[in-house]
Amino acid sequence: MKINILTLFPEMFKGFLSESIIKRAIENELIKINIINIRDYTFDKHKQVDDTPFGGGGGMVLKPEPLFRALENLKNSKIIYTSPQGETLTQDLVKELSKEEEITIIAGHYEGIDERVIDEFVDLEISIGDYVLTGGELPAMIITDAISRLIPGVLGNSASYENDSFYNGLLDYPHYTRPAEYNGLKVPDVLLSGHHKNIEIWRKKESIKRTYIRRPDLIKEKLKNKEFSKLELKLLNEIKNEIEGE
Ligand code: SAM
Repeated sequence: MKINILTLFPEMFKGFLSESIIKRAIENELIKINIINIRDYTFDKHKQVDDTPFGGGGGMVLKPEPLFRALENLKNSKIIYTSPQGETLTQDLVKELSKEEEITIIAGHYEGIDERVIDEFVDLEISIGDYVLTGGELPAMIITDAISRLIPGVLGNSASYENDSFYNGLLDYPHYTRPAEYNGLKVPDVLLSGHHKNIEIWRKKESIKRTYIRRPDLIKEKLKNKEFSKLELKLLNEIKNEIEGE
């Protein structure tokens, strides 16, 4: 998977690309991340990338010419513009994007980019949430990070993401590590039992319970799509009875 990122601030990506799982994935050639400086595609002597908006008002807008030039060579990739006006990023969308061979992410800045760039090149606008940031660099990193961890081999063990929140429409179960008791706080007995089947059922139930309490919308969606197994439906009923009995 190759990810191109168009930005005015390439230095912002240095830490992101040189630490931990993403660094290893790049070194192992599982992902290739190509940071493109939009300024390199300006041909005037001042290397001007932005200008005032037609019609007046405050702020600056990223000029079309450098972006048109940069994107001309990237037309074969799926082109994404990071924007608070876009489709909200979800794990389902991340899963879909992880199947692409090459994607290009445009990080906007100031008031955004000239609309003609979106009309001409952009396949998809993605928002990371209903709030406004100063630039698209953090959203570009978030999208890249979320996709990269789904690329086979990046996490080493695919189970690491298959149980994660949202992957199967549920929130993750709680995690514990050594020591088994800390400051009088104990790890649930079942996790120390070595009984794999019971551990699996406990985790499933905790996952459904958390989702039921914190994100009932996700439970509704799974029920609507008939995505629960017989065991999961039984656990869901147990949880409802337990909560009602409290
Ligand atoms: N004027 C724009 C609007 O109200 O829709 C906001 C521009 S914002 C200050 C500058 C850039 O940050 C945007 O072009 C976009 O690339 C990025 N950005 C800001 N918030 C974002 C969000 N929630 N999701 C994705 N990108 C965002």
